[in-house]
Amino acid sequence: TYILQNADLVRKETAHLHIDDRGYYFGDGIYEVIRVYEGVPFAKEAHLNRLEESSAKIDMTLPYSGQELIDLLDKLIAANELVNGLVYLQVTRGIEPRNHLYTKNCKPVLTAFTQPLPKKAAAPSAAVHVWLTDDIRWLRCDIKTINLLGNIIAKKEAADQQCQEAIMQRDGFITEGSSSNLFLVKDKVLYTHPATNLILNGITRQVVIDLAKQNGYEVVEEPFPVDVLEHADEAFLTSTTMEIAAISQIKGQLSTSYVPGPVTKDLQEKFRQLLPQK
Ligand code: PLP
Repeated sequence: TYILQNADLVRKETAHLHIDDRGYYFGDGIYEVIRVYEGVPFAKEAHLNRLEESSAKIDMTLPYSGQELIDLLDKLIAANELVNGLVYLQVTRGIEPRNHLYTKNCKPVLTAFTQPLPKKAAAPSAAVHVWLTDDIRWLRCDIKTINLLGNIIAKKEAADQQCQEAIMQRDGFITEGSSSNLFLVKDKVLYTHPATNLILNGITRQVVIDLAKQNGYEVVEEPFPVDVLEHADEAFLTSTTMEIAAISQIKGQLSTSYVPGPVTKDLQEKFRQLLPQK
Protein backbone atom coordinates (compact mmCIF):
# COMPACT_ATOMS: atom_id res chain seq x y z
CA THR A 1 0.00 0.00 0.00
CA TYR A 2 0.97 3.60 -0.56
CA ILE A 3 1.12 6.50 1.83
CA LEU A 4 1.44 10.18 1.05
CA GLN A 5 4.55 11.95 2.26
CA ASN A 6 3.90 15.54 1.32
CA ALA A 7 2.94 15.34 -2.34
CA ASP A 8 4.69 12.02 -2.98
CA LEU A 9 3.14 8.57 -3.07
CA VAL A 10 5.57 6.29 -1.28
CA ARG A 11 5.33 2.56 -0.59
CA LYS A 12 4.60 2.18 3.11
CA GLU A 13 7.53 -0.22 3.64
CA THR A 14 10.01 2.29 2.26
CA ALA A 15 8.64 5.40 4.01
CA HIS A 16 10.95 7.17 6.46
CA LEU A 17 10.09 9.47 9.32
CA HIS A 18 12.48 12.19 10.41
CA ILE A 19 13.50 11.88 14.06
CA ASP A 20 13.31 15.67 14.45
CA ASP A 21 9.69 15.88 13.28
CA ARG A 22 7.87 17.98 15.90
CA GLY A 23 4.90 15.63 15.66
CA TYR A 24 7.12 12.94 17.08
CA TYR A 25 8.63 14.96 19.95
CA PHE A 26 5.71 17.21 20.89
CA GLY A 27 2.58 15.91 19.22
CA ASP A 28 2.78 19.27 17.45
CA GLY A 29 0.36 18.57 14.65
CA ILE A 30 -3.24 18.15 13.57
CA TYR A 31 -5.20 15.50 11.69
CA GLU A 32 -8.42 14.45 10.02
CA VAL A 33 -10.11 11.12 9.40
CA ILE A 34 -12.30 11.08 6.31
CA ARG A 35 -14.63 8.21 5.46
CA VAL A 36 -14.58 6.87 1.92
CA TYR A 37 -17.74 5.24 0.56
CA GLU A 38 -17.68 3.62 -2.88
CA GLY A 39 -14.42 5.42 -3.61
CA VAL A 40 -15.84 8.84 -2.71
CA PRO A 41 -14.53 10.80 0.31
CA PHE A 42 -17.55 11.76 2.46
CA ALA A 43 -17.93 15.41 3.58
CA LYS A 44 -14.39 16.13 2.39
CA GLU A 45 -14.90 19.92 2.24
CA ALA A 46 -16.05 20.00 5.87
CA HIS A 47 -13.05 17.90 6.95
CA LEU A 48 -10.59 20.04 5.01
CA ASN A 49 -12.16 23.22 6.40
CA ARG A 50 -11.75 21.88 9.92
CA LEU A 51 -8.12 20.98 9.13
CA GLU A 52 -7.60 24.55 7.96
CA GLU A 53 -9.23 25.86 11.17
CA SER A 54 -7.14 23.59 13.41
CA SER A 55 -4.05 24.76 11.55
CA ALA A 56 -4.90 28.45 12.02
CA LYS A 57 -5.59 27.86 15.73
CA ILE A 58 -2.03 26.58 16.25
CA ASP A 59 -0.36 29.27 14.11
CA MET A 60 0.49 26.86 11.33
CA THR A 61 -0.01 27.31 7.59
CA LEU A 62 -1.08 24.22 5.67
CA PRO A 63 1.44 23.27 3.00
CA TYR A 64 -1.30 22.78 0.36
CA SER A 65 -4.48 24.54 -0.69
CA GLY A 66 -7.87 22.87 -0.27
CA GLN A 67 -7.95 21.86 -3.94
CA GLU A 68 -4.39 20.51 -3.79
CA LEU A 69 -5.34 18.43 -0.75
CA ILE A 70 -8.40 17.06 -2.54
CA ASP A 71 -6.23 16.12 -5.53
CA LEU A 72 -3.66 14.45 -3.26
CA LEU A 73 -6.35 12.46 -1.46
CA ASP A 74 -7.83 11.33 -4.77
CA LYS A 75 -4.37 10.24 -5.90
CA LEU A 76 -3.87 8.22 -2.70
CA ILE A 77 -7.34 6.62 -2.86
CA ALA A 78 -6.74 5.63 -6.49
CA ALA A 79 -3.24 4.25 -5.83
CA ASN A 80 -4.59 2.05 -3.02
CA GLU A 81 -7.75 1.17 -4.95
CA LEU A 82 -9.74 2.04 -1.84
CA VAL A 83 -13.49 1.49 -2.20
CA ASN A 84 -14.82 1.59 1.39
CA GLY A 85 -12.65 2.72 4.26
CA LEU A 86 -10.99 5.82 5.54
CA VAL A 87 -8.22 8.26 4.83
CA TYR A 88 -6.10 9.41 7.76
CA LEU A 89 -4.37 12.71 7.09
CA GLN A 90 -2.03 14.54 9.43
CA VAL A 91 0.07 17.65 9.21
CA THR A 92 2.85 18.20 11.71
CA ARG A 93 4.56 21.53 12.17
CA GLY A 94 7.74 20.24 10.59
CA ILE A 95 11.30 19.22 11.20
CA GLU A 96 13.64 21.12 13.52
CA PRO A 97 16.08 20.24 16.31
CA ARG A 98 13.99 19.70 19.46
CA ASN A 99 13.01 22.98 21.08
CA HIS A 100 9.59 23.97 22.42
CA LEU A 101 9.79 27.21 20.48
CA TYR A 102 9.45 26.70 16.73
CA THR A 103 10.85 29.02 14.11
CA LYS A 104 9.31 30.55 11.01
CA ASN A 105 11.42 28.22 8.89
CA CYS A 106 9.62 25.11 10.08
CA LYS A 107 7.94 23.54 7.03
CA PRO A 108 4.79 21.51 7.77
CA VAL A 109 4.88 17.81 6.85
CA LEU A 110 1.85 15.99 5.45
CA THR A 111 1.38 12.26 5.97
CA ALA A 112 -1.68 10.31 4.85
CA PHE A 113 -2.67 6.68 4.61
CA THR A 114 -5.81 4.72 3.79
CA GLN A 115 -7.46 1.84 5.60
CA PRO A 116 -10.23 -0.39 4.24
CA LEU A 117 -13.35 -0.71 6.43
CA PRO A 118 -16.68 -2.46 6.03
CA LYS A 119 -19.46 -0.11 4.97
CA LYS A 120 -21.22 0.01 8.34
CA ALA A 121 -24.09 2.32 7.55
CA ALA A 122 -25.54 -0.40 5.34
CA ALA A 123 -26.42 -2.30 8.52
CA PRO A 124 -25.91 -0.32 11.73
CA SER A 125 -23.75 -2.26 14.15
CA ALA A 126 -25.00 -3.46 17.53
CA ALA A 127 -25.58 -0.88 20.24
CA VAL A 128 -22.48 -0.02 22.25
CA HIS A 129 -21.68 0.02 25.95
CA VAL A 130 -19.98 3.20 27.16
CA TRP A 131 -17.95 4.08 30.24
CA LEU A 132 -18.58 7.43 31.95
CA THR A 133 -15.40 8.98 33.29
CA ASP A 134 -13.72 12.34 34.00
CA ASP A 135 -12.72 14.56 31.11
CA ILE A 136 -9.07 15.12 31.98
CA ARG A 137 -8.19 16.83 28.70
CA TRP A 138 -7.00 20.38 28.11
CA LEU A 139 -9.13 23.43 27.30
CA ARG A 140 -8.69 23.42 23.51
CA CYS A 141 -10.55 20.25 22.61
CA ASP A 142 -11.84 22.12 19.56
CA ILE A 143 -8.43 21.68 17.91
CA LYS A 144 -8.10 18.29 16.22
CA THR A 145 -4.58 17.75 17.51
CA ILE A 146 -2.61 14.51 17.26
CA ASN A 147 -1.99 14.97 21.01
CA LEU A 148 -4.54 12.43 22.21
CA LEU A 149 -3.27 11.15 25.56
CA GLY A 150 -6.35 12.21 27.51
CA ASN A 151 -8.55 10.47 24.95
CA ILE A 152 -6.35 7.37 24.94
CA ILE A 153 -6.44 7.06 28.74
CA ALA A 154 -10.24 7.31 28.70
CA LYS A 155 -10.57 4.75 25.88
CA LYS A 156 -8.35 2.26 27.72
CA GLU A 157 -10.37 2.69 30.93
CA ALA A 158 -13.50 1.94 28.90
CA ALA A 159 -11.97 -1.11 27.22
CA ASP A 160 -10.87 -2.47 30.60
CA GLN A 161 -14.56 -2.37 31.58
CA GLN A 162 -15.71 -4.12 28.37
CA CYS A 163 -17.02 -0.85 26.98
CA GLN A 164 -16.46 0.18 23.36
CA GLU A 165 -16.24 3.89 24.11
CA ALA A 166 -15.69 6.32 26.99
CA ILE A 167 -17.92 9.34 27.46
CA MET A 168 -16.55 12.15 29.58
CA GLN A 169 -17.79 14.74 32.04
CA ARG A 170 -16.15 17.99 33.09
CA ASP A 171 -17.43 19.66 36.27
CA GLY A 172 -20.54 17.47 36.18
CA PHE A 173 -21.45 18.24 32.55
CA ILE A 174 -21.17 15.72 29.73
CA THR A 175 -18.73 16.82 27.05
CA GLU A 176 -18.24 14.07 24.44
CA GLY A 177 -16.80 10.63 23.77
CA SER A 178 -13.07 9.84 23.60
CA SER A 179 -13.36 9.72 19.81
CA SER A 180 -17.00 10.61 19.20
CA ASN A 181 -19.78 13.07 20.06
CA LEU A 182 -22.73 12.19 22.28
CA PHE A 183 -26.42 12.87 21.66
CA LEU A 184 -29.37 12.25 23.96
CA VAL A 185 -32.99 12.05 22.88
CA LYS A 186 -35.87 12.99 25.17
CA ASP A 187 -39.45 13.35 23.90
CA LYS A 188 -38.08 13.42 20.29
CA VAL A 189 -35.79 16.40 21.09
CA LEU A 190 -32.03 15.95 20.57
CA TYR A 191 -29.53 17.26 23.12
CA THR A 192 -25.78 17.60 22.62
CA HIS A 193 -22.94 19.72 23.99
CA PRO A 194 -22.47 22.98 22.06
CA ALA A 195 -19.42 23.37 19.82
CA THR A 196 -17.21 25.22 22.31
CA ASN A 197 -13.55 24.80 23.26
CA LEU A 198 -14.57 21.79 25.39
CA ILE A 199 -15.40 19.43 22.51
CA LEU A 200 -14.32 18.59 19.01
CA ASN A 201 -17.08 19.74 16.67
CA GLY A 202 -17.46 16.42 14.85
CA ILE A 203 -18.28 16.49 11.17
CA THR A 204 -20.72 13.61 11.75
CA ARG A 205 -22.20 15.65 14.63
CA GLN A 206 -22.79 18.54 12.22
CA VAL A 207 -24.24 16.25 9.54
CA VAL A 208 -26.60 14.67 12.11
CA ILE A 209 -27.73 18.06 13.48
CA ASP A 210 -28.55 19.23 9.94
CA LEU A 211 -30.30 15.95 9.13
CA ALA A 212 -32.32 16.08 12.33
CA LYS A 213 -33.45 19.67 11.73
CA GLN A 214 -34.33 18.94 8.10
CA ASN A 215 -36.52 16.11 9.34
CA GLY A 216 -38.39 18.21 11.87
CA TYR A 217 -36.55 17.35 15.06
CA GLU A 218 -35.63 20.05 17.53
CA VAL A 219 -31.92 20.10 18.44
CA VAL A 220 -30.76 21.71 21.67
CA GLU A 221 -27.02 22.46 21.80
CA GLU A 222 -26.52 23.07 25.50
CA PRO A 223 -24.34 21.47 28.18
CA PHE A 224 -26.34 19.00 30.28
CA PRO A 225 -25.47 17.55 33.70
CA VAL A 226 -24.57 13.91 34.14
CA ASP A 227 -27.87 12.89 35.78
CA VAL A 228 -29.79 13.80 32.62
CA LEU A 229 -28.39 10.55 31.17
CA GLU A 230 -30.78 8.69 33.45
CA HIS A 231 -33.83 10.49 32.09
CA ALA A 232 -33.12 10.23 28.36
CA ASP A 233 -35.19 7.98 26.09
CA GLU A 234 -32.30 7.22 23.73
CA ALA A 235 -28.60 7.97 23.45
CA PHE A 236 -26.18 7.65 20.55
CA LEU A 237 -22.65 8.45 19.48
CA THR A 238 -21.48 9.96 16.22
CA SER A 239 -18.11 9.83 14.51
CA THR A 240 -16.60 9.34 11.09
CA THR A 241 -15.75 5.72 11.85
CA MET A 242 -18.72 4.81 14.11
CA GLU A 243 -21.23 6.82 12.04
CA ILE A 244 -24.35 6.81 14.28
CA ALA A 245 -24.02 4.18 17.03
CA ALA A 246 -26.84 3.57 19.49
CA ILE A 247 -25.82 3.29 23.16
CA SER A 248 -27.41 0.43 25.08
CA GLN A 249 -25.65 0.83 28.40
CA ILE A 250 -23.74 3.41 30.45
CA LYS A 251 -21.43 2.22 33.23
CA GLY A 252 -18.89 3.86 35.52
CA GLN A 253 -19.77 7.07 37.34
CA LEU A 254 -23.43 6.34 36.57
CA SER A 255 -25.33 3.24 35.42
CA THR A 256 -28.27 3.28 33.09
CA SER A 257 -29.47 1.50 29.96
CA TYR A 258 -31.43 2.30 26.81
CA VAL A 259 -33.28 0.37 24.16
CA PRO A 260 -32.17 1.61 20.70
CA GLY A 261 -35.16 3.77 19.85
CA PRO A 262 -37.07 5.19 16.91
CA VAL A 263 -35.24 8.52 16.66
CA THR A 264 -31.79 6.87 16.55
CA LYS A 265 -33.05 4.38 13.96
CA ASP A 266 -34.66 7.11 11.87
CA LEU A 267 -31.46 9.17 11.83
CA GLN A 268 -29.36 6.10 11.00
CA GLU A 269 -31.61 5.43 8.03
CA LYS A 270 -31.56 9.09 6.89
CA PHE A 271 -27.76 9.09 7.27
CA ARG A 272 -27.48 5.94 5.17
CA GLN A 273 -29.47 7.64 2.43
CA LEU A 274 -26.86 10.43 2.26
CA LEU A 275 -24.08 8.01 1.36
CA PRO A 276 -23.05 7.13 -2.18
CA GLN A 277 -24.86 3.96 -3.18
CA LYS A 278 -23.30 1.19 -5.27
N1 PLP B 1 -14.73 13.99 19.36
C1 PLP B 1 -13.47 13.54 19.39
C2 PLP B 1 -12.64 13.79 20.61
C3 PLP B 1 -12.94 12.83 18.29
O1 PLP B 1 -11.67 12.39 18.32
C4 PLP B 1 -13.77 12.60 17.18
C5 PLP B 1 -13.29 11.86 16.01
O2 PLP B 1 -12.27 11.22 16.02
C6 PLP B 1 -15.07 13.07 17.19
C7 PLP B 1 -15.52 13.79 18.31
C8 PLP B 1 -15.99 12.86 16.02
O3 PLP B 1 -15.62 13.68 14.94
P1 PLP B 1 -15.98 13.32 13.45
O4 PLP B 1 -17.45 13.12 13.37
O5 PLP B 1 -15.51 14.50 12.67
O6 PLP B 1 -15.24 12.05 13.11
